[in-house]
Amino acid sequence: ERKKLSKLRKTPAVTRDGTEITLLANIELPDDCPAALDAGATGVGLFRSEFLFMGRVGHAKHLPTEDEQFESYRQAVTAMKGRPVTIRTLDIGADKPLDAIEHTSLNPALGLRAIRFCLAEPQMFLAQLRAILRASAHGPVKLLIPMLAHAFEIDQALSLLEQAKAQLREAGKKFDPLMPVGAMIEIPAAALALPMFVKRLDFLSVGTNDLIQYTLAIDRADHEVAHLYNPLHPAVLYLLSTTIATGAKAGIPVSVCGEMAGDPKLTRLLLGMGLREFSMHPSQLLMVKQEILNSDLSDIGPRTRRILKMSEPAAIAEAVEELRAA
Ligand code: PEP
Ligand code: MG
Repeated sequence: ERKKLSKLRKTPAVTRDGTEITLLANIELPDDCPAALDAGATGVGLFRSEFLFMGRVGHAKHLPTEDEQFESYRQAVTAMKGRPVTIRTLDIGADKPLDAIEHTSLNPALGLRAIRFCLAEPQMFLAQLRAILRASAHGPVKLLIPMLAHAFEIDQALSLLEQAKAQLREAGKKFDPLMPVGAMIEIPAAALALPMFVKRLDFLSVGTNDLIQYTLAIDRADHEVAHLYNPLHPAVLYLLSTTIATGAKAGIPVSVCGEMAGDPKLTRLLLGMGLREFSMHPSQLLMVKQEILNSDLSDIGPRTRRILKMSEPAAIAEAVEELRAA
């Protein structure tokens, strides 16, 4: 079976009716790039930059410098050989704590994390933005901001990005002045009030891991409530499908980079919602591609619209299973 799948490495991900789908890889470190290419990824849809900051043996108390970060980002960009690399700015807190920082939130999942933390530490954030910009001189780079909930957060992030560009110009360092900027949609408020973001952004990426956590009020790392963590909850499907539809209407690309994107049991459901860009762990990519190659959107579309009107979890689960078997 694995041998059969590996034959699909270079096969374009196109549905039976001829729609092209983009399959991207999630990576944690530049060393993950060979596995991404090996699985046939056409780019990196999520580089979780916090892994450069976590578990730094011997440097646990220090954050990586701008130059150290630049080296890692450039390494990933070079390894991907001209394919786009989406670098997410530091997403720390809650399930991803940093040794170098004292985390004192009463409730880390709802505390000063991700973009909130970065905006509270502008010098650290500027160093990361400069490092990412410098990497963009070596190949196509996109910038992804995690955990947005408020319009002013993106406004402040964009204004810091302008500041980082001015600093690099002054220092005579090269970067791509048109580097696209997107945001993770992973807080329900962001999905529900999406019009306030689409005007400000070049692309969206849905983080279903956190979107499910915050929609259902289920800690994604808590085993006691793991049985309630349901990607097929109608509220989750509603937020996901409106995000995809609103992005399409606004003419900006939408990807899903949470675990749902890498689950072949859900590929057709996501296709039926209109998703055309999936980013996942490289190990899932060929299984998802196989689903895509066997899918016909003219059949999946109407069936998915019926699923989105359902309210009974058991009926939804059954219909999603039938969608896959169809
Ligand atoms: C997500 O929340 O779905 C996501 C992709 O990001 P992370 O798992 O790193 O929070
Ligand atoms: Mg997340």
